[in-house]
Amino acid sequence: MSSGFFNLIFPDECRLCETPLRGFSRIPVCSDCLKLPQPIQAAYRCRGCGTPFVEAFPLDEHDLCTVCRESQVNFDAAYSFGSYEGALRELIHLLKYAKVESLAGPLGRMLLSAAPADGKFDLVVAMPMHWRKRWERGFNQAELLAAPIARFYGAKLSRCLRRSRYTKAQASLGQQERLANLDHSFSVKKRAALAGKRVLLIDDVFTTGATLRAATAVLKEAGISHVSALTLARADRRRYDGQSQTSSKSVARAARAASTGTLDYVMRRNSS
Ligand SMILES: [Zn+2]
Ligand SMILES: [Zn+2]
Repeated sequence: MSSGFFNLIFPDECRLCETPLRGFSRIPVCSDCLKLPQPIQAAYRCRGCGTPFVEAFPLDEHDLCTVCRESQVNFDAAYSFGSYEGALRELIHLLKYAKVESLAGPLGRMLLSAAPADGKFDLVVAMPMHWRKRWERGFNQAELLAAPIARFYGAKLSRCLRRSRYTKAQASLGQQERLANLDHSFSVKKRAALAGKRVLLIDDVFTTGATLRAATAVLKEAGISHVSALTLARADRRRYDGQSQTSSKSVARAARAASTGTLDYVMRRNSS
């Protein structure tokens, strides 16, 4: 078969850094780019939802953030691999929107590395998609990611959770709208088999946590005793304290330029 055929399916350059790919792989991303996503590092984390913080002050004496303090429903634990930015964000987008299903393998390994090694779960539940959305995409990325996790724990990959309404894309909504959008959007099947079970709930991205909390509420209402959430990536708002970071970076750049005489040159050039 000519290589041109494969090139039609996958261009022979890395979809992240555009360097030519050597050899044939079903994954259109080079091995260097696949190594880029790193586990999230945080000095402080909410004990409930795992949100990372730069300082301790947003956490109360129980190590809970404001959202968890004010929520009716909380996770028993929440784990996440990395921050939803950079290469990890691009890889997730390739999987979800460009439908590069082969990325479920490497992304699944990252997810597994964030799963608690000593965790005990009866059921692994992938965040469901409404059938129409699943049909449009052809697969549910959370299900692809959840399968190896279920194998790891020797737990059942359960389809007990169902998305009963076709919700508007959460990303386009504000926090209040998100919660309203999610109201009554989940239901459970085979309720009798769920009492007292321990669940690990899998999703690709933890944004505000509203979707995961809504699913957790329905699972707990059905008698599930424990719900932990495991996501590949999470929104990391620490970047937004980053105003000062940006300015200090430009200060550093100006200082460097000044020390090498560039700033002087730029100023002279601009004034002439
Ligand atoms: Zn690359
Ligand atoms: Zn929290």
